[in-house]
Amino acid sequence: MMKIFISAFFVIAIAGFAQTKTKQTDWRTLHFNSLVADGHNDVLTRVMHGADISVRTPDGQSDLVRMKEGGVDVQVFSVWMGPEYGEGRAFKYANQMIDSLESLCRRNPDKIAIAKTATEAREIVQQKKIAAVIGVEGGHIIESNLDYLEALAKRGMRYLTLTWNNSTPWSTSGEDETLHASSLKHKGLTDFGREVVRKMNQLGVMVDLSHVGEQTFYDALAVTTKPVIVSHSSVYALAPHYRNLKDDQIRALAKNGGVMCINFYPEFLDSTYARKAEEIRAENRMLSDSVRNVYHDRDHANDIIDSLLAKQLDAIRPPLSLLIDHIDYVVKLVGVDYVGLGSDFDGISALPRGLDDVSDMPKITRELQKRGYSDEDIKKILGENFMRVFKANTE
Ligand SMILES: [Zn+2]
Repeated sequence: MMKIFISAFFVIAIAGFAQTKTKQTDWRTLHFNSLVADGHNDVLTRVMHGADISVRTPDGQSDLVRMKEGGVDVQVFSVWMGPEYGEGRAFKYANQMIDSLESLCRRNPDKIAIAKTATEAREIVQQKKIAAVIGVEGGHIIESNLDYLEALAKRGMRYLTLTWNNSTPWSTSGEDETLHASSLKHKGLTDFGREVVRKMNQLGVMVDLSHVGEQTFYDALAVTTKPVIVSHSSVYALAPHYRNLKDDQIRALAKNGGVMCINFYPEFLDSTYARKAEEIRAENRMLSDSVRNVYHDRDHANDIIDSLLAKQLDAIRPPLSLLIDHIDYVVKLVGVDYVGLGSDFDGISALPRGLDDVSDMPKITRELQKRGYSDEDIKKILGENFMRVFKANTE
């Protein structure tokens, strides 16, 4: 009798346990059933140096195979080049980068296609392909020419980052507003800069406010009639860096209905990383100095130094939970509708521990679930917030 009673008790207990288990969708199932959008990936720079990303590549942080494994559905491919591509070269090189993305799509019609609208992106994803969105990173690339802006939009550019680390004659960057304020001839957007933003609204090109200075950020918000994107920046309150957004900026972004895609770079996540990394670079002074002699932009030089010191820097990688802290911070500040993912894969030299490349993206869903986020909120963070802004600009 006792024996039967005990077994019955266990059956009921196990059934109860199974029921609470099924309440939460398995994180892998949830991840792969969600539309995952990444606001920024720099892998095209590797493509321009000859990498074939349609197959698994031994180096780098992403390729089409690993994007699939990571469940990435909508991927913004960044068209980026440094300020050394000045007038007469930048627009031309941007077109060559778009050529290379188009050719990748032509060679792999079963894997990837370019999406020019949010609806097109969903259709491509439904066919189990990656929807590629073109993002142009750096206002200098339009060479202060509205015809170039229009031409790039025609080719499929769906966001333009108003500046990279360098200012343009019509917009000032976060780096310049913060580090070189006294040498700036103007601050924020000029009249021409405002015209660029208005034209972008007309052309269905999202206004990307990553990299820009605070003045440019607020000037652009005052002009745009559409929700903006911050394609790859994190939270300043957690990691004070000019690439990150302050609380007031996040509130203004939410008021605009935009989306802020969190950057995965340890230096933008962890306030102690820069100091620790600098200590390691200092211990390797000869190597650091020789790189800095060739690359004058400090961030760019650090990227190269860091890739050479990868082994030593591995020890100071912050945990993946810190990336989730940044997402959490935005949610607590303004709600769950304004945050997304902007990995910066293949544009950064380090990643949080546990996130080694794009194939680890499902772990983000696992971590969000651990913190008690509902399936619906996780879907917003993974991609639906990005899609809302994409749609508002393109349809
Ligand atoms: Zn960037």
